[in-house]
Amino acid sequence: MKKAVFPGSFDPITLGHVDIIERGLPLFDEIILAIGVNSDKKYMFNLEERVRFLKETFKNQPKIEVMTYKGMTVDFCKSQNAGFILRGLRNSTDLDFEKFIGQTNFKMSGVETVFFITSSGKSHISSTVVRDVIRNNGDYAFMVPDAVKK
Ligand code: ADP
Repeated sequence: MKKAVFPGSFDPITLGHVDIIERGLPLFDEIILAIGVNSDKKYMFNLEERVRFLKETFKNQPKIEVMTYKGMTVDFCKSQNAGFILRGLRNSTDLDFEKFIGQTNFKMSGVETVFFITSSGKSHISSTVVRDVIRNNGDYAFMVPDAVKK
């Protein structure tokens, strides 16, 4: 059984995340959407809301599980018997950052990271931009799945 973990803050989930997750589905029997809990970080949406957005968005997709975790992503992967981490690359900044983390994770645990390059037209979307637009009362609906709009 090929299992992948897609780790992130998902504050909130965007159509950029959805794109990567949907494209990962044919590769894996199961994808765990894993919200990393970091008590030092300030979030716009609390953990329950972020879990709800993910669950609602993928409620009709039996291959997707939503979970939360603390600590290192590779330890969480091991605990779930997941051999892969799924991540998205928007630009060279993402690549530089992800390369270092992917190499370290592999060295530590043998867990491979599988990367998808963002679909054309989606690379401008980020949770940070969505939060900024929300704070300024702008229209963010075109960047997020329905669950986040309500
Ligand atoms: P983190 O807090 O770990 O950065 P995020 O929720 O911001 O978590 O992102 C999780 C993953 O989703 C990362 O691999 C990131 O590159 C990817 N991602 C986010 N937005 C997009 C997008 N628009 N296109 C492709 N990948 C994306």
